[in-house]
Amino acid sequence: MEGKTPDFSLDVQGVKGFCPVGETYAKQQLEEKKIPVLSCEGPCVRGEIARLAANLVAKAEPTLARACHGEAFFVPHSAMASWVKGAEKVVMIDGCFLQCHGRALKGLIGEEKVVEIDALPFHRKYGDLFSMDAVPEQELKAVARQVADKIIATLKQSGELAGDRSRKE
Ligand code: SF4
Repeated sequence: MEGKTPDFSLDVQGVKGFCPVGETYAKQQLEEKKIPVLSCEGPCVRGEIARLAANLVAKAEPTLARACHGEAFFVPHSAMASWVKGAEKVVMIDGCFLQCHGRALKGLIGEEKVVEIDALPFHRKYGDLFSMDAVPEQELKAVARQVADKIIATLKQSGELAGDRSRKE
């Protein structure tokens, strides 16, 4: 089997309705001009570390807020999608070099707006494990904390934490 796939698209069923609390949350973040932070997630241990780190990164910086990638990608009429698509930039924390969610996000909002972060080089652990259940919860949290601190330092250094100035005042 060849270890690569050229660019591809995905057919997705249409959808009706809103997540009421998602609408309220996303509208609030839009109003406050927050930079969305997305992540991939477990059950893979690398995805889980990315998810936990994304939560910590978003909590630590007032210009950032967690966004829901599911709603942003798959409910196009939602406020979550409007917030993510209209942002000047979006921080995307993926669990490994495959950058699954980052690649989809680049197609959705344009590569130049995605601040892509591969969390794995920030810890380089668990190369022989798949499941997040193979690592004690407290250890996962401690690793995620370390990863989050390094990501915050990287974002600060590159000036990516400045608020979203693309929105109209
Ligand atoms: S980037 Fe893809 S393969 Fe890697 S941890 Fe995230 S979802 Fe899993």
